[in-house]
Amino acid sequence: MEKLYEGKAKILYKTEDSEILLTQFKDDATAFNAQKRGTIKGKGQINCTISSALFQWLESRGISTHFIDCPEPTQMRVRAVTIIPLEVVVRNIAAGSLCRQTGLTEGTLLPFPLVEFYLKNDELGDPLLTSDRLKILELATPEQIEQLQSLALKINQYLSEFFTSCQITLVDFKLEFGLDSQGQLLLADEISPDTCRLWDQQKNDPQQRVLDKDRFRRDLGEVESAYEQVQQRVLAKLGLTEN
Ligand code: UDP
Repeated sequence: MEKLYEGKAKILYKTEDSEILLTQFKDDATAFNAQKRGTIKGKGQINCTISSALFQWLESRGISTHFIDCPEPTQMRVRAVTIIPLEVVVRNIAAGSLCRQTGLTEGTLLPFPLVEFYLKNDELGDPLLTSDRLKILELATPEQIEQLQSLALKINQYLSEFFTSCQITLVDFKLEFGLDSQGQLLLADEISPDTCRLWDQQKNDPQQRVLDKDRFRRDLGEVESAYEQVQQRVLAKLGLTEN
């Protein structure tokens, strides 16, 4: 199969159908704009499984995604889209760069969900955009930006509710969107512990509660078991395992 693109955590292949691409999820992990590299054993399969489950669940609630199916546990067939080069971040609780840039204490409950747009550009370090910069860059029309904002909020509402039912707090997460050949806006990329901050509601300790890539970023250990824990709870909640 022809490789279209290799990213930090996934490889994208062409298929015989130009409308369909194949994503291969890797165990490779990077952080801090690829300055830190490592492997999280089993991550590819776990992220593919969690993402597929969440995409299908969001579809059932009316959110259009690029997900088609999983031919293999680490592979996802997706609709070919042109990715809008924006990272749409939604935050419910202060963490990560929001704390570093504003001085807010980690764990502060935000008065409303914060939607932020970052430019997807590794060379520039994915800078945070202002609304005027967004307009000037013309990476999406003003209508599409509005649509992205309201979709991101709706997805946040659905996912927060879902993760709460798994006794997990959805602290923040990153979404990517793309346009298919008909110009339809689809949720793309992945939704996994690589792209979400997830805190275990059964734990109070600020390090023990971390169930996401921060375990890798901050060398907290037990990375694999945290990812497995998320997978297990998500699948159990959706009735996809016997647990
Ligand atoms: N995120 C991501 N990819 C990126 C940047 C951020 O998936 O390139 C996710 C990250 O996992 C977190 C949220 O977006 O769930 C907000 O990340 P933040 O801006 O706090 O950046 P960080 O602290 O990870 O540098």
